[in-house]
Amino acid sequence: MTTTSVAQIAILAGDGVGPEIMTAALAVLKAVSQDQFQYQLQAVPFGGIAIDQCGEPLPATTLATCQASDAVLLAAVGGPKWDLSPQRPEAGLLALRQALNLFANIRPTRITEANQHYSPLKLAAPVDFVIFRELTSGIYFGQPRTFSSEMAVDTMRYQREEIARIARLAFQFATTRSQHVTLVDKANVLASSRLWRQVVAAIAAEFPAVTYDTKYVDATAMQLIAHPEQFDVILTANLFGDILSDEAAEITGSLGTIPSISQGSQGPALYEPIHGSAPDIAGQSRANPIAMIRSVALMLVHSFKRTDLANEITTAIDAVMAAGIVTPDLGGSATTTAVTAAIINHIQESR
Ligand code: ATP
Ligand code: MG
Repeated sequence: MTTTSVAQIAILAGDGVGPEIMTAALAVLKAVSQDQFQYQLQAVPFGGIAIDQCGEPLPATTLATCQASDAVLLAAVGGPKWDLSPQRPEAGLLALRQALNLFANIRPTRITEANQHYSPLKLAAPVDFVIFRELTSGIYFGQPRTFSSEMAVDTMRYQREEIARIARLAFQFATTRSQHVTLVDKANVLASSRLWRQVVAAIAAEFPAVTYDTKYVDATAMQLIAHPEQFDVILTANLFGDILSDEAAEITGSLGTIPSISQGSQGPALYEPIHGSAPDIAGQSRANPIAMIRSVALMLVHSFKRTDLANEITTAIDAVMAAGIVTPDLGGSATTTAVTAAIINHIQESR
């Protein structure tokens, strides 16, 4: 999109704490945008609420709105209300990922001086890395897949282009950061990992400014605990990324602070917190809004090239966390709305 056009943002608030944290995130977006960033919101039903209103988790009008948008903001879907429903709210998420061809799942992990006392690790230096997990291929999808009581088969299968497209995204992303990519694999054992090494080395050659190395996944699992500060962009296959990104979430102290991007080669990217709909605390203003607010910051950087506005948000979050104005998941007693108000306050007072 060009800087003169109005950004079109699809809003999928969904279920559980979704509407509360979305309200918080949109209030922060409004505060930071003022007359500097023009956007239009299209709020559409998605997930359980769409099943209730329209009979399906991803109504055609919701999908069309997402496809016509520049970016999609999603809070969370699902909850016990739909446990016995023939339609699953989560099926809407899978269908949306497929329809938008979101093959890369991107999760940042940031531990700064401001928030390091929430981390279970003793850290020598700040941590700031991003995991690029391949999302639509690999062992979760490969055929053949068979099961009997005597033998079961899963297939870890990757094609060159499936690797190349996410590798390209990861190297492009690295050019906006510290310029280092680490490919994580098990190339000493797996054939698919050897193809990753071949393909990624070729992509790396297209980005001479980005340095590149490789690590085995078992060593990486240790290093994420021992020396997480060494990583910048981690690029990895579906299975390894699933495991390492949960490990990465844990070292920050709370899943309530971590956003994500799901992205394809073209079309809108989808921004959402990594946590679920937290039905156990819905409607109580106990939900941590920071993961959702950080999702807005990621959107401003990667869909709209407004790093300036995103930095204002991130700085405000750091300040509010450092001041201990946090929700119960981080050991505080502030409400969702109080945390949000504090973040907005900080943004306004810093201008
Ligand atoms: P999903 O399968 O949709 O990922 P889940 O079963 O993993 O969901 P979550 O909804 O992420 O579960 O919730 C796990 C726990 O973390 C719950 O106790 C929930 O209350 C808590 N939690 C999740 N998100 C937040 C948040 N933003 N703020 C505070 N607590 C949260
Ligand atoms: Mg979960």
